[in-house]
Amino acid sequence: MAKTIQAIKGMNDILPGESARWESFEAIVREVFAAYGYRNIRMPIVEQTDLFVRSIGEVTDIVEKEMYTFIDRLNGDSLTLRPEGTASCLRAVLEHNLLYDGPQRVWYSGPMFRHERPQKGRYRQFHQFGVEALGLAGPDVDAEQLVMLSDLWKKLGLTNVALEINTLGDTESRAAHRASLISYLESHAELLDEEAKRRLHTNPLRILDTKNPSMQAMVDAAPKLIDFVSEDSLKHFEKFQSYIRQAGIDYQINSRLVRGLDYYNRTVFEWTTTQLGSQGTICGGGRYDGLIEQMGGKPAPACGFGMGIERILLLLEAQEIALPLQTLDIYLAQQGEQAAAFAWQVASQLRQAGFSVQQHMGEASFKSQMKKADQSGARFAVIIGDDEASAQQVTLKPLRQAGEQQRLSVSDVITTIK
Ligand code: ATP
Ligand code: MG
Repeated sequence: MAKTIQAIKGMNDILPGESARWESFEAIVREVFAAYGYRNIRMPIVEQTDLFVRSIGEVTDIVEKEMYTFIDRLNGDSLTLRPEGTASCLRAVLEHNLLYDGPQRVWYSGPMFRHERPQKGRYRQFHQFGVEALGLAGPDVDAEQLVMLSDLWKKLGLTNVALEINTLGDTESRAAHRASLISYLESHAELLDEEAKRRLHTNPLRILDTKNPSMQAMVDAAPKLIDFVSEDSLKHFEKFQSYIRQAGIDYQINSRLVRGLDYYNRTVFEWTTTQLGSQGTICGGGRYDGLIEQMGGKPAPACGFGMGIERILLLLEAQEIALPLQTLDIYLAQQGEQAAAFAWQVASQLRQAGFSVQQHMGEASFKSQMKKADQSGARFAVIIGDDEASAQQVTLKPLRQAGEQQRLSVSDVITTIK
């Protein structure tokens, strides 16, 4: 026998047994986004490699070691499976001039690809919902996105998610902080690990994110970005906080929160949980006012976030939250020649009335059909023998609740189980 081929490590199938939870979750998210005026945008999964290198930044985890990059052997182009959605989304918005019509609020969802060490909550193909508000500069839009997310957690019934926020200031503040940070780190060169040394002149901010315990004390005492942040950016941050406080959202300022990508400025935020180990960030985002211009567009402010679907589903599971699942309404059992013909009619009438119907295929005893009906999860069995068929009736049997079976016409079935 030939050896079966398996899926790629870190890339998972979502089987019918789990997909109902995904669909339910996705429907709730879409409803919340729509309630805030966000519209769906769908981009390709593959882009020119340069798009990600230029927007995410050369010295980031993603670009340095996580991208699935390959050569299109038909024309030699370097292509990459998208590791995140913002770059593609902005490319699409610029390519189609969407900002010409004024600010845009968009969301997308789908698979993202990063070559990481697979573990619970961290995969090589994972799925995100992403949201971008483009062309809006004020702190109100930053706050609105957090209000929207907090609404979403409430709708889902999620608890134990904490919000951390920070401000990265504007370009000038970041440059001044960077210079001061580099000279501080240089003066403690003997404490820097290999990774930190490599990042010293390319991405020193990232060094503050280190998980290396022997660098903690030194990093804790490093110059703080907040001390370099301009008056304007501080005002933005203050106003942003007042909006989310007003909305009753609890948060903490984490001055070490910088986010992994180069393009952020001013507001950054993360929602985290302690229930998923080191995969505790379920959603992260912030403002990236310079990115559109950097990508060749007319300067326009922007703010957005990405959230990991797998992690949120894991968290829902950890909190034993059941999402409303779509279940089968009716299993249709049938036996006999006349019954088989009538069953097609009945199935069609029931579906037209809005019920989901799984019709038994092939021939089998009623006993084995009823077993299948039970396994299907259907709420009711509709049973048709030749007897019923000649009377143009069916037998209705409740499967998930107590109750006698009864002989009814199809229209009576419809009114009985509605
Ligand atoms: P982490 O620090 O956990 O690696 P990140 O900062 O790289 O996260 P982002 O680029 O901000 O993550 O992506 C947004 C969200 O996507 C994360 O908050 C997380 O929920 C999810 N996510 C990121 N990488 C993965 C992955 N490899 N597997 C599953 N979910 C992920
Ligand atoms: Mg990461």
